[in-house]
Amino acid sequence: MLSTMQDVPLLISRILAHGSTIHGTSQVTTWTGDGEPHRRSYAEIGARAAQLAHALREDLEVSGDERVATLMWNNAEHVEAYFAIPSMGAVLHTLNLRLPPEQIVWIVDHAADRVVLVNGSLIPLLAPLLPHLKSLEHVVVSGAGDRSALTDAAARAQVRVHEYEDLIAGKPTSYDWPELDERAAAAMCYTSGTTGDPKGVVYSHRSIYLHSMQVNMAQSMGLTDGDTSLVVVPQFHVNAWGLPHATFMTGVNMLMPDRFLQPVPLAEMIESERPTHAAAVPTIWQGLLAELLAKPRDVSALTQVTIGGSACPPSLMEAFDALGMRVCHAWGMTETSPLGTIARPPAHAVGTDEEFAYRLTQGRFPAGVEARLTGPGGERLPWDGESAGELEVRGPWIAGAYYNGTDAEPLRPVDKFSEDGWLKTGDVGTISPDGFLTLTDRAKDVIKSGGEWISSVELENALMSHPDVAEAAVVAVPDEKWGERPLATVVLKEGSTADFDTLRDFLAGEGRIAKWQLPERWTVIESVPKTSVGKFDKKVLRRQYAEGALDITRI
Ligand code: AMP
Repeated sequence: MLSTMQDVPLLISRILAHGSTIHGTSQVTTWTGDGEPHRRSYAEIGARAAQLAHALREDLEVSGDERVATLMWNNAEHVEAYFAIPSMGAVLHTLNLRLPPEQIVWIVDHAADRVVLVNGSLIPLLAPLLPHLKSLEHVVVSGAGDRSALTDAAARAQVRVHEYEDLIAGKPTSYDWPELDERAAAAMCYTSGTTGDPKGVVYSHRSIYLHSMQVNMAQSMGLTDGDTSLVVVPQFHVNAWGLPHATFMTGVNMLMPDRFLQPVPLAEMIESERPTHAAAVPTIWQGLLAELLAKPRDVSALTQVTIGGSACPPSLMEAFDALGMRVCHAWGMTETSPLGTIARPPAHAVGTDEEFAYRLTQGRFPAGVEARLTGPGGERLPWDGESAGELEVRGPWIAGAYYNGTDAEPLRPVDKFSEDGWLKTGDVGTISPDGFLTLTDRAKDVIKSGGEWISSVELENALMSHPDVAEAAVVAVPDEKWGERPLATVVLKEGSTADFDTLRDFLAGEGRIAKWQLPERWTVIESVPKTSVGKFDKKVLRRQYAEGALDITRI
């Protein structure tokens, strides 16, 4: 029997139409750093997205599913691109501006980007790459920044340069958005390529639509039109965790930091713009915390902070809670759109001793994300909160393959996808009977010592709860007797006098860490190396150790 329901495709143009009319007075506020933030209503964003689509189609002749890239910070123009490009049927390709230049070149070439929208402040990054970007024909510049370097480089590379505002000026403020197939490509994002070449994940209109609804659920981020979300997580990092789409569904206002991601401007915008919610990786929040402790500000409006991308250290959660900024921990990947779990404690745990432990987990799987754990021998493991295995997931906003060129079969590497099509996340952890995920490590970071596993994350969290430790990363290093042993690399707080024996005794104290798991190799470093999206870059530490570049003390 067929259903009797209307078959209306789930399209990004529908999210735009909804947000720019029903929530037309909601605002995107962009920080400018000169004291006067820039404000634009959702109605204006809708009109300007239509103008941008006209310009791309009529002036730059973007057609079909051609890729239009962005090399931009989080700001109103980037939101316009988010809606205009997919709504007209083209594919939005957000470029990670923190990647090494040769990777940006590789990615632009792989995606065959014809047009790139760039912020003026990023011209120094783009201009030297132009001669190498073979597919590129047009550069569209928005916002402040010296254009001269671009003009010269573009002339040599035979690329045309346009001013965003000139290009859209005078264009119609509405667009007859095409009725696309909801399964068509809407946006793409490359993984950071820490092993091998970066891999392209291509989101569909349908996957983005469904993911946005999930972000908005009360048990998820659960924001409403009274909220303002400080979107620190970059728009080039998995669609800013889906926030620009989700906010257009509900009328949540967005506060965009543009390039001002340092602790001082973040503290200033929280104080003056009074966002109620914020989202970013732990590294950003560690920096903000130090700033707020050094110079207290009125942060009373900010009551919800979503933290993901790396494990949230318990010490960070406690410190934020104490400032009234309640942390909600979440897990996800580029391949999962990204929201895969979110740690809202179940009703029976709220107000009890169990509540904090639930909040420290990576969170509960929402409807729409199916999960299973696979042991080292390929066996299915139970959801008993104890059996640790590799997490595999499946669902309508989970990748089933990687982009391999428009006419090529998508890539399905066996280490990333199971034979029956589930995504192998490379994350190792346990799942409780009530569906809460606790990650113990990345499969490649777990320390395999004498046939047992030691969680690097557990050691790091324990170290970071010591008052003298600012940051700590633990990596596996080869050991003749045990195969691998943990190496503790520690960043001490200014003025701290703690020595390694003290830190080791601290780890052993109060049953924090089992004796056989305690590191014997220690070193102090100035800061933990970070990846392009602000996560601990442990491969750099492993390499430094192998090259003898670290000053190791054995205790
Ligand atoms: P990316 O695709 O760059 O967002 O990286 C995804 C990876 O980040 C995941 O596979 C995890 O290893 C890690 N990750 C994301 N969120 C968390 C979290 N809450 N706790 C621990 N690891 C996380």
